[in-house]
Amino acid sequence: MPYLNVNQVESALSAAAGPPNELITQLITLPNPTWEGRTCRAIKIASGSGPGRPGVYFIGGVHAREWGSSDILISVIQQLTQAYRNNTGITLGGKSFTAAQIQRIVNSLDIFVFPQVNPDGRNYSMTVDPMWRKNRRPAPPSNPTCPGVDINRNYDFLWNYPAHFHPSAPIVNSQNPCDYQVYVGPSAASEPETQNVVSMFDNHPNIRFFVDIHSYSELILYGWGDDQEQTTDPAMNFRNPAFDGQRGLENDAAYREYIDGDNEALSITLGNRMRDAIQAVRGRGYTVQQSFDLYPTAGTSTDYADSRHFVTPGTEEVLAFTIEWGSPSNPTPFHPPYSEMGNIIQEVTAGLLEFCLRIVDAQAVFVHFVTAQNISGTFPCTTYIDHPLTNGNPNAILFVTHNWNPLGLPSAKGQFNNHPVGVWYAQGRQQWGIFNEDEAAMVEGVAFNVSVYS
Ligand SMILES: [Zn+2]
Repeated sequence: MPYLNVNQVESALSAAAGPPNELITQLITLPNPTWEGRTCRAIKIASGSGPGRPGVYFIGGVHAREWGSSDILISVIQQLTQAYRNNTGITLGGKSFTAAQIQRIVNSLDIFVFPQVNPDGRNYSMTVDPMWRKNRRPAPPSNPTCPGVDINRNYDFLWNYPAHFHPSAPIVNSQNPCDYQVYVGPSAASEPETQNVVSMFDNHPNIRFFVDIHSYSELILYGWGDDQEQTTDPAMNFRNPAFDGQRGLENDAAYREYIDGDNEALSITLGNRMRDAIQAVRGRGYTVQQSFDLYPTAGTSTDYADSRHFVTPGTEEVLAFTIEWGSPSNPTPFHPPYSEMGNIIQEVTAGLLEFCLRIVDAQAVFVHFVTAQNISGTFPCTTYIDHPLTNGNPNAILFVTHNWNPLGLPSAKGQFNNHPVGVWYAQGRQQWGIFNEDEAAMVEGVAFNVSVYS
């Protein structure tokens, strides 16, 4: 069986949205035709609806030559819908998901999949130049033989990188249209393919988790791509012009990108879960690392996704990941023989389903603050969580939210109604407690979600 061509990806997507899946799927036509006039589509998989349902968003086929990414996502769509419909589990090599787990995923999440972001490029790679990476924007008059933009350098995040990065930063971006790999385009988000990916975030504001599927190197990347991370100085961030000209150097103190420490911990936890599920399929060991550890970048999808809530008030925080599937030791690593690609499809499918499952299980624990307890002068207003997942489990990672707005995590404090709220493990009680330092903040009847990652 060969790789799916452009039309086969689209027809598989349309078929997955039709009978007998029509009750749990919705085909989404994206607003911008490609340069060659192709219409792009995504699919939503969900059973039920309601407030507080997190959205999970997977994209693939951004880079034209990475053929297997679209095949992976079509497989995820087909397997998930079929197993849900038939109330069966999914077995992927040595990794299995039960029927009940599949039901929970589809009943609890809005899963958005956009499997073929760059159909023009995929078609060109499959028919003319197998190593083609960019889209097919027509060549500019100044460079009449140089078509194409790297979509994954075109997002509106530090896009004008010479103004923002240190001159010596080894950044893998280019302003030259003739760069075969990483031309950033004429302006930020200039490309219809980029705008299509962004439109999904705009139109589905409950998206809180994002994975962009690429190849190759057997990596799971989280966090920022522009510099190393730090969790202590929120003012040292991509929006602050005081740090222009300093970004992108490794192991220097002059600039490191700010990330909330709890989000960093949660990203690593979710990355490790994907890694373990992938390994269970047939033993391949993927590495979880910060995006910057590969090389510094600007204008990528994951940094854009992470940056949205800083830039646009009212948008949800997104945790974004890149998976680089496939071993560099494959003789043609962008296009492994399809027998090997079949194994990789199983691995990445397992990783993505596990990712969904951890998010669902995190949602499953609800704590409702009906009445806050007033236990002492030190912590004037404290409520303990009494749940089998957290009792006696000091290593649980709690993600405390109100309507999915983060409040606080272990050893950290968040804010609720402008009052400080914190979470800690009480050794004496063997229970987790949520406290605030100001009784006025604890309103009777307010419900919090406590998500548990353990
Ligand atoms: Zn790629």
